[in-house]
Amino acid sequence: MTIFEAYNSTKKRLEAAGIEDYVFEAKQIIKHITGLNNTQILTLYNNSLTKFQENNLTALLRQREIRYPLQYIFGEWDFYGRGFYVGPGVLVPRADTETLVEHCLEFLKQCENPQILDLCAGSGAIGITLAKEIASAEVLMLEKYPEALSYTQKNIARNGAENAKAAEGDIFVSDGAEPCRYDLIVSNPPYIPKAEMKTISPETEFEPETALLGGEDGLDFYRAIIKNYTQSLKKGGMLAFEVGINQFESVVGLLTEAGFGNVTVKNDLNGIGRVVSGINI
Ligand code: GLN
Repeated sequence: MTIFEAYNSTKKRLEAAGIEDYVFEAKQIIKHITGLNNTQILTLYNNSLTKFQENNLTALLRQREIRYPLQYIFGEWDFYGRGFYVGPGVLVPRADTETLVEHCLEFLKQCENPQILDLCAGSGAIGITLAKEIASAEVLMLEKYPEALSYTQKNIARNGAENAKAAEGDIFVSDGAEPCRYDLIVSNPPYIPKAEMKTISPETEFEPETALLGGEDGLDFYRAIIKNYTQSLKKGGMLAFEVGINQFESVVGLLTEAGFGNVTVKNDLNGIGRVVSGINI
């Protein structure tokens, strides 16, 4: 089978499996299997796959056809231009979350040596990105689940984020909440409401429920973080959250009720209210 034939049959099989982005994914898969880049593929498309490559393509497609996440198959994924290890037990970093990172970077421009706490850190995509973008920052990432925490740690090492640390911590018992310590507390917590867990995508069903389910109304983690961590912010410090679809009004309400000032909402690239933040006044 030539590279070109492999690409075409991969596209067909992914499309038949109901995968929306099948053209993009087929390209990624062929690159992964052959180890070639875009330009090399364009010139070598008539080359034959080795038996070894064909076997790997077969195995990969069988996994992907049952909607096992492409990111888990590859074992890594890009976020904000950097590579992160991912796999079962940790939520895959989403492009939507870059909106949260950008909002935080904008706020942190005014801070010298910013002290940052990332709660429910998972792969570490948020905390590590902030640490890499701001060399003078100090970042602590808390993660409750050992399996996910091992990814946070591996990703700190992979990205050489010497100004970032990870520790085990459960936000419901407010581990590590030192008073008046942080310029920024940021979190992309689990936020899917219980009733909506049935309607998540087939891929998301392979991701840990503990990274997705935010209680009956999806807001349990926002309530707990506001209650347990507000005292850990400096005066003038920011608490910033990623929120789910249609949750921004409720989270604005929670922050306003708790006495935060300058409560703002930012839309993601799809125009969905995705980031809510407030200032500790
Ligand atoms: N954005 C994720 C999804 O829709 C959910 C992430 C989360 O709960 N923090 O699958």
